[in-house]
Amino acid sequence: MTTEKFETLDPENWDEMRELAHRMVEDAFDYIQSCGERPVWTPVPDDISQYLKEPAPADPSDPADVYDEFLANIMPYNLHTNHPRFWAWYMGSGTVMGAMADFLAAVLNPNVGGINHAAPRVEQQVISWLIELMGFPTSASGLLTSGASMANFTALTVARNSNCGYDVRRKGVLAAPGQLTAYASSEIHSCNQKAIETLGLGSQGLRKVPVNADYTIDMDALRDQVRADREAGMIPFCVIATAGTINTGAIDDMEAIADFCNEEGLWFHVDGAIGAVATLADNVQPLLKGMDRADSIALDLHKWMHIPFEAGCVIVRNAATHADSFSLVPEYLQRDVEGGGMASGSLWFSDYGLQLTRQFRALKVWMSVKEHGLDRFGRMIARNVEQAHYLGELIEAAPELERTAPIGLDIVCFRYNPGGLDQESLNTLNRKLLVQLQQGGVAAPSYTTLQGNYCLRVAISNHRSRFEDFDLMVEEVVKLGRELN
Ligand SMILES: *Cc1c(COP(=O)(O)O)cnc(C)c1O
Repeated sequence: MTTEKFETLDPENWDEMRELAHRMVEDAFDYIQSCGERPVWTPVPDDISQYLKEPAPADPSDPADVYDEFLANIMPYNLHTNHPRFWAWYMGSGTVMGAMADFLAAVLNPNVGGINHAAPRVEQQVISWLIELMGFPTSASGLLTSGASMANFTALTVARNSNCGYDVRRKGVLAAPGQLTAYASSEIHSCNQKAIETLGLGSQGLRKVPVNADYTIDMDALRDQVRADREAGMIPFCVIATAGTINTGAIDDMEAIADFCNEEGLWFHVDGAIGAVATLADNVQPLLKGMDRADSIALDLHKWMHIPFEAGCVIVRNAATHADSFSLVPEYLQRDVEGGGMASGSLWFSDYGLQLTRQFRALKVWMSVKEHGLDRFGRMIARNVEQAHYLGELIEAAPELERTAPIGLDIVCFRYNPGGLDQESLNTLNRKLLVQLQQGGVAAPSYTTLQGNYCLRVAISNHRSRFEDFDLMVEEVVKLGRELN
């Protein structure tokens, strides 16, 4: 027998590691509970940037020292999405249970590509909940993804493979008798264009159709474009509706798109990254009419459901077409349906997407939904919509502020406009204003440009925001605007 220690990656001292783990939990709770008291953003200082370029160590460190490095150098410069006045781009603010579940998922460390164990069943259950929520038939299929980008990509792959009139999966896009073309409004999220490009159709395979004054797709323009493209020999195969556009929260007329797709034999896909889960909210649900008629929906759980990143989902009405695009079973993955061993059971999510090895992302969704119940998520969403209109009223009441787009869902676009400035000066002023607002740490909206006008964009996907948080931001914006003018 050798007396030499057997080396593994387990802790050298389990008791010390356990103690450290407890300290991590304490610090984590302090961090989340006090999230509103720190600046919403702190830029990463140069010395920290330098430190984060150091090469990897060859030798071990004390675990407590590694954790101290995290506390000192990473945690303070986090993107504090959990802050009540974080309203930038479009994110979610996390749930405590979701964070703990992610820890547990890593502890269990199952591979959810397939195989006979509990985790795929949990994912299937979560997907079933979402299928029911979307009003799809129980026979529909689904897959949890990193986010809506991958969900859209997965759905558009199925649309391309199943609705172009020949076996695209086998013959590839080179065999297409004409340009395969998908349609969406000019407000479509960029990830869809990336998907269409990656699918080999080129960016010209995505037609961006003009929008109405409320930023929804112009149905007449869509109809004309599809007709003209067919006449020119192109192969239209899909319309992508957006349920909640990224710029202004606009929801396309999904009843009209469903009818149109029906008439034209087009695949009806919904990018519901923002709005699909808002079917839980009484004040949004009526706006989503027609979404349940889609062939596929991409939705995000890490946005308006606040599940910690990453969590998205794709749902496909016809499960067989979904598997037809992704199922590929070599001998080392062969299923043994009857055998009763680890390979038995038919829950192989690798049949429904690109990934084989998959994390247990379903657990954080499952535990958060069980903890809060769907109705509470709906109330959080509804309140954000009310807050958007409250912010709209504050803007209305402030003579120097100007709303720059209709309020869509929980997204408000506005700018500081004291009058008498041309577009370029106003754009410059508002750019500076936003940087100062973010650097000051009071509130973190982001920005967009609408019809040439640079504006602040407040996306209120936040379950911690109070109404008075918006008063605070408006006061600060007016103060900064006056100083800069
Ligand atoms: C955020 C967003 C996406 C991309 O989703 P990710 O989760 O960031 O991958 C797609 N479409 C819309 C409308 C979005 O808002």
